[in-house]
Amino acid sequence: MITALAGPQDVILGDALNHASIIDGCRLSGATYKTYPHCDTAALAKLLAALDLEGKKGVRLVVTETVFSMDGDLAPLEDIARLCHTHNALLIIDEAHATGCFGPGGHGLAAHLGITPYVTVAVHTLSKALGGFGAFVTGSELVYQYLLNVARPFLFTTALPPATIAAAQAALDLIEQDPSRITELQRKAAFLRTHLKALGFHTLQSETHIIPLLVGESTTALRMAELLREHGLYAVAIRPPTVPMGQARIRLSVMATHTQQDLLFAVNILEKVGKQLKLLQERICGE
Ligand SMILES: *Cc1c(COP(=O)(O)O)cnc(C)c1O
Repeated sequence: MITALAGPQDVILGDALNHASIIDGCRLSGATYKTYPHCDTAALAKLLAALDLEGKKGVRLVVTETVFSMDGDLAPLEDIARLCHTHNALLIIDEAHATGCFGPGGHGLAAHLGITPYVTVAVHTLSKALGGFGAFVTGSELVYQYLLNVARPFLFTTALPPATIAAAQAALDLIEQDPSRITELQRKAAFLRTHLKALGFHTLQSETHIIPLLVGESTTALRMAELLREHGLYAVAIRPPTVPMGQARIRLSVMATHTQQDLLFAVNILEKVGKQLKLLQERICGE
């Protein structure tokens, strides 16, 4: 999608923590790709203002995830959309972890905030909350027609199998029929996060169903995942280069179908293992 929207004469500004697939799309487009520090809208504003001053030809694009996949925090999407509007930049968002988890019908964070008209294109994956495979793109009729005709990786790839599409449609129907899945998911995530923070875990800036537990060293994160598994809790260790050096972590993903009992079971095991590995912040641990 990015290769269809941007070329060598264009400039793309992206969040420093953008997913590898976004970075690769930007590289393939041949556009100049610059990053701004994670969620730093002041830095983004400066970069956009500098481009205005240069006054060079070419399109400006801003690209960001909405729910960040490894930190579980939210992009300051309203501010970013306002900046794009002011500086005449296209806004591309990757809703991979927001699809099915935020907004009416699970349409994502932009829909949740009511700013869809300010987004040029959104990418939604079927592989996360929808439990399927593949992805889709949403945008205006104009963008849709343009991508249909110009996006080479799409044009020259076989369409998804009908069964895969039917599964995705069924998943989307389920979310639309029962919007409480979304509110329940976020309520349960807040419940789990509150408990883990109270124990002294560092959950970064997470505000969503993705809850990282910062560990630091890769070896400790792997050891922790192993111990958790021995206790019956499956939680994945995430290490560099997926996350920055020294920021290895355990990444928890809450599901709408988790019961309070499930979540308390997890808290119990995480407390045990957290104490064993001395990961709980002192003030709480020493009580
Ligand atoms: C998982 C993910 C993707 C890729 O989605 P696939 O369905 O695995 O191809 C893209 N962007 C983000 C932010 C993701 O987390």
